[in-house]
Amino acid sequence: MNAFRNAMPKILLVEDNEMNRDMLSRRLQRKGYQVVLAVDGKSGVEMARTQAPDLVLMDMSLPVLDGWEATRRLKADAATQHIPVIALTAHAMSSDCEKALEAGCDDYDTKPVELRRLLGKIEAILSGGGMASGGESAS
Ligand SMILES: [Mg+2]
Repeated sequence: MNAFRNAMPKILLVEDNEMNRDMLSRRLQRKGYQVVLAVDGKSGVEMARTQAPDLVLMDMSLPVLDGWEATRRLKADAATQHIPVIALTAHAMSSDCEKALEAGCDDYDTKPVELRRLLGKIEAILSGGGMASGGESAS
């Protein structure tokens, strides 16, 4: 990790499944991340505005507003469009992954989460080198 970066990047985890949410947030905290939580897509969009996280981990299958629509709203809002979003898709279905990128997600990972793989994607994006699809600023 880059020592000059914020020592504790803040991750917003949007996940409706309590067990997944608890487990993933605990494991991310143990790795040194500050974690804030939202339980549906609508509160995820609101939390992104109020908490200004460094990155969003977005489950796609969410109540109220699904992850695709929540991501579209984040990417349509000047206040939040710069925040990278990693989609968490329940299946390794390529259509879900494509849909996530089309909605504006910067990368995706499939559930069940394999922590080391996900951490690699998080760190790549936070260090500015991991955009899967044309991000506006690479540096
Ligand atoms: Mg879900």
